[in-house]
Amino acid sequence: MIKAVRGTRDLLPPETALWNFVEAAARDVFRAYNFQEIRTPIFEETQLFARSVGEETDIVAKEMYTWYDGGENPAILFERAWRSEHERDYDQLKPGDRFTPRLGIDFVGYKNTEVTLIEVKFSAGERIREAANQLLRSRDNWLAVYPTSENPRLVLAIPASQLPQASRLVPPSIEVQPVEVPSDYEPRQSLTLRPENTAGVVRAYIEHKLWERGLQKLYYIGPQFRRERPQKGRYRQFYQIGAEVIGPPSAGSESPARDTEVLEMLATFLDRLGITDWTLELNSVGCPNDRAVFNEALQKALEPVVAKMCADCQRRAVNNPLRVFDCKVPADQPIIDKLPRISQFLDEGCRKHFTEVREILKAVGIPFALNDRLVRGLDYYTRTAFEFTHGALGAQNAILGGGRYDGLSESLGGPQAPGIGFAIGEDRLVMSLKESADAVARKPDVYIAPLGEGMNREAARLARELRRHDLVAELGDESFRLKKSLETASKMGARYALIIGENEVKANAFALKNLETGEQVSVPRSELVRKIQGNG
Ligand code: AMP
Repeated sequence: MIKAVRGTRDLLPPETALWNFVEAAARDVFRAYNFQEIRTPIFEETQLFARSVGEETDIVAKEMYTWYDGGENPAILFERAWRSEHERDYDQLKPGDRFTPRLGIDFVGYKNTEVTLIEVKFSAGERIREAANQLLRSRDNWLAVYPTSENPRLVLAIPASQLPQASRLVPPSIEVQPVEVPSDYEPRQSLTLRPENTAGVVRAYIEHKLWERGLQKLYYIGPQFRRERPQKGRYRQFYQIGAEVIGPPSAGSESPARDTEVLEMLATFLDRLGITDWTLELNSVGCPNDRAVFNEALQKALEPVVAKMCADCQRRAVNNPLRVFDCKVPADQPIIDKLPRISQFLDEGCRKHFTEVREILKAVGIPFALNDRLVRGLDYYTRTAFEFTHGALGAQNAILGGGRYDGLSESLGGPQAPGIGFAIGEDRLVMSLKESADAVARKPDVYIAPLGEGMNREAARLARELRRHDLVAELGDESFRLKKSLETASKMGARYALIIGENEVKANAFALKNLETGEQVSVPRSELVRKIQGNG
């Protein structure tokens, strides 16, 4: 039997009614704050996430669904070019030996269709992975890296414009040889299922010059994908409802009032769903200036203790020390607790911004708790960072998280466009509402029971009439006995059963049975709608 893939699941009725209820409430609440919907593609270029979410984050480092799409395998392209130049050598190599990716190195997309291949030969004994890593450090420039078996060799496809830089990067012991690309070459792209939606929204903001329309208030609802270890409340395909406020600074996008409007909207949304026991955890993660000073202090504080920490933290300590705060390894927690906090390093501007956020929250009566360990697992955050948690959810208790990302647009090649956003984990939100599933599902108003041959036609006509009046009608079948129809109707929770037999059709009046009270009356066709709607 073929089953749903691990970490994915089917959402079935009646629970889907709850999902619709949540999404309708979100649309409704967001509308009052003048947000509009945006839908971005489910997959994007891998580069988008690597550059926004950050290479050192768990999401990009381990959790993305990435593949190489379309075009021609650069290795085959290389093979073709190389074969024409080295016909004899080529013939001596065993089939299957060559052009097979052996290293777990990613393909990297590129921006330029003008491509040149270079062949890099290694002198004996050179450590291929190390060299490959060195070459990959400037990831933007490289399309692919292929080790080949006999003489270790890397094959790189890079934009021609990057060639001078490439030659500089390659160690002197390595021979660099440009190979022209055939004109029919179609590039292969590295694509990734979106692990979150902010990067896509900001990409769209830049691509469509949305800043020309002033401050953008956008929301989205849709699936996201992360290869995490599945457990209750954690899936590999999960759903987020999120929103972003982004725009030029002149449109007020930087103001603490944007932060508090978003936070207040979230509180309103949760209240609307009847979720009252939430906690808002708040922090400021500062801006790049603060981050530089903080990173230095953090690195210094980590130096004497990092050897005792997990392998991930040891790597983070070097590459991106702030990410140490994402660590979930229990043994590391007492060490992390003693590390300096970003809150001690905020500059004047960030401090003022954060104070104002707190003051406005107090003014509108939104309770919050400061949590100076909260750095959120994505690199793009600046200043305000927050999470709403909900006690009933246990270990996976964060229902939503978000924050400011003032430099994100620029880091993706866009104009200055400060912004703030959040993503609600819809799966977890629905989980905390589970008991209400029955209450929000709309049951059929009427079950139509045709009795005897030829009655399906009459039943279909009647059903059409009733449904036009926004009544939920379910149809039986003329082959069913009355007892079976009534049982089916009761089981699905219909309010009425409408019985259609030959006599009823002749009289143009139908037996309407109230399934709660058992009372049955004959109702003329013209009065059916009113009666079932409960106004008669
Ligand atoms: P993030 O994009 O990591 O800030 O996540 C925002 C929210 O999405 C979290 O607070 C969770 O509620 C939800 N979320 C994140 N990852 C998952 C997952 N694997 N399964 C279910 N919900 C998730």
